[in-house]
Amino acid sequence: MVRVEDIRVFTVVGAGTMGHGIAELAAIAGFKVYIADVNMDILRGALDRIRWSLSKLSERGVLREPVDTVISRITPVISVNPDGSWSQDLASVLTQSQFMVEAIPEKLELKQSLFEFADRYAPQDAILATNTSSLPITEIAKPTRRPERVVGMHFFNPPVLMPLVEVIRGASTSDEVVRVTVEVSRRFGKTPVVVNKDVPGFIVNRILGRLMNTACYMVERGLATVEDVDATVFYTLGFPMGVFELADYSGIDVFYLVSTAMAERGVKGIPCRLFEEKYRSGRYGVKSGEGFYKYPEPGKFVKPAHRRELAGKADPALLLSLAVNEAAYLLREGIASKEDIETAVKLGLGWPKGVFEFADELGIDRIVESIRRVKGETGLEFLEPDPLLVKMVGEGKLGRKSGEGFYKYAVIEEAVKETIIVRKEKPIAWIVLNRPERLNAINPKMIEEIGRALDDLEEDPDVRVIVFKGNGRAFCAGADVTAFAGINPLLAMKASRKFQELTLKIQFYTKPTIAAIHGYALGGGLELALSTDFRIASEDAMLGQPEINLGFIPGAGATQRLARIVGPAKAKEFIMTGDFIPAVEAHKMGLISKVVKPGALDEEARNLALKLAEKPPLALMAAKIAVDMGLEAGLWSGLAVESQLFGILFSTEDVIEGVTAFIEKRRPKFKGK
Ligand code: NAD
Repeated sequence: MVRVEDIRVFTVVGAGTMGHGIAELAAIAGFKVYIADVNMDILRGALDRIRWSLSKLSERGVLREPVDTVISRITPVISVNPDGSWSQDLASVLTQSQFMVEAIPEKLELKQSLFEFADRYAPQDAILATNTSSLPITEIAKPTRRPERVVGMHFFNPPVLMPLVEVIRGASTSDEVVRVTVEVSRRFGKTPVVVNKDVPGFIVNRILGRLMNTACYMVERGLATVEDVDATVFYTLGFPMGVFELADYSGIDVFYLVSTAMAERGVKGIPCRLFEEKYRSGRYGVKSGEGFYKYPEPGKFVKPAHRRELAGKADPALLLSLAVNEAAYLLREGIASKEDIETAVKLGLGWPKGVFEFADELGIDRIVESIRRVKGETGLEFLEPDPLLVKMVGEGKLGRKSGEGFYKYAVIEEAVKETIIVRKEKPIAWIVLNRPERLNAINPKMIEEIGRALDDLEEDPDVRVIVFKGNGRAFCAGADVTAFAGINPLLAMKASRKFQELTLKIQFYTKPTIAAIHGYALGGGLELALSTDFRIASEDAMLGQPEINLGFIPGAGATQRLARIVGPAKAKEFIMTGDFIPAVEAHKMGLISKVVKPGALDEEARNLALKLAEKPPLALMAAKIAVDMGLEAGLWSGLAVESQLFGILFSTEDVIEGVTAFIEKRRPKFKGK
């Protein structure tokens, strides 16, 4: 039995892209390391790369020892004789090693021959690990007499910087060997995840493969363009790279070959020629100067400029549907735990959230519908929603919106008032205008109820963001003109002042506010929306200030706020013509920040709210005050307010949390203190 404490000597076979990095990690961790490759030139090159990398780490202050001390632990070894057979030198270092990691080319016979050789010479209890990306661990272990001591140890490129290691159990790998390999990965400073079955592509490449395949399908079917997909992935989902950008960056040839290898091992995908065509024409991406994007010269990566206005044009639920399905399969089959799958996509792919977290946000029902839609369109039999997802939908576990999906969410509390519904879906509170039979026309009662709801929500520290929306066919068609019956000038002025007070309360509210607009947002309805921090509208929204047609003017702030938001000329045109404008035009004017498909409005508002809810509440409040006060008071006063708020924030616990999390490379947890 080998314990981690018993491991002193590592042998890394293969000193290429992966091998030299793995040897470096072992040396940094304090182990004696032999690194083996076919000739001295390659080995010298590998040692040069290790030295360069160590000096970079040293410059950044993350190496605890001098570069030379670390390097001195690594000894190069020539692994083969001139006739190609394995060398005595390799045999001799293997006899001293308690752990071997193999990182030679991805050829089964070559790897099998090495494992057979290593089995002959390495101590009986030594662990033999392979860094293979696509070959079965079980097959690699076959020629050995110790398949229980053969394990997958899948690093990511570059091993020194990428934090994830997938530890893969072959058919016979023992629990002890998995445990020790996990521990070794931790000693290397990595976060290991365990893959309990030897499935092709393990976790990360399986999930990534599904995403690539779906993206490819969507483009080929004309459901989205390459640019739509990448802008959506980059801006809406917050991935570090677009799907096609990533393919270019890592090499389209690599993806093509990995997916072909996975297909050969039975992982079926949607036939899609896009990658194949690029592969066959030699347009591999960055390395050849052209792939889905063009680069200034081969090997020179310049990040493509994704266009923000295209974000959301590719349906995110469809885009992620097969990736979620794959993750559900891995979970249901016990191939990996939920936590490990989440860790794998976050650390292996840089996703800002886990795949199950995304699924919950998008809605499990939408994911299932999307998979069925692809199945319907392609007629591919294997495209079935995973039974786990189907079961969840059957049980009403639809994700965040139903309070439970892969995770449990704070209970939704709903208070139905006479004119509004206040729905707490912490950290969000929705204020739903609820007079659908009158297109949510605002009356004095509604003004009073919204004001009171805002006061109550202000006191609830778990509510971080307020979203206004309308029930039924519209956001809000304006003030209820029936309330004007018998009105006199004095009462009209009082009513206007009351409504203005509410809009001021919203504008200077201590928490961020969002208006999610669909259908009509007219007159007072639009004025309510104008006082919020963010306005998102669905494509069917129509905005207008039609008061002029009745002989009066807006009375709840539109003459002032519109001018500040879109400028005086546009504001006058809007107010004086009384014309309605569609959402797309309002977006061009800067009146609303985003236009989305009708079915996606709540989701979009929720995503923005959740994003804001993760930010420090006091800094959000300060940002609102600084911007709004400054606009009214002028530059000098505005700057004074800004610097004072800037200073005050340094007395908060959230600043300490923000800076600490930044240094520790984790997501901060702000408390509003
Ligand atoms: P590479 O071509 O950069 O390196 C392979 C090295 O093995 C070369 O230096 C080669 O000279 C050497 N080699 C060939 N025959 C040998 C022999 N008989 N004895 C000793 N050394 C020999 O390849 P790589 O990208 O480092 O990949 C190595 C393994 O790691 C593959 O199994 C690959 O699937 C896997 N992997 C690669 C990546 C990646 O992003 N590159 C990521 C994870 C896993």
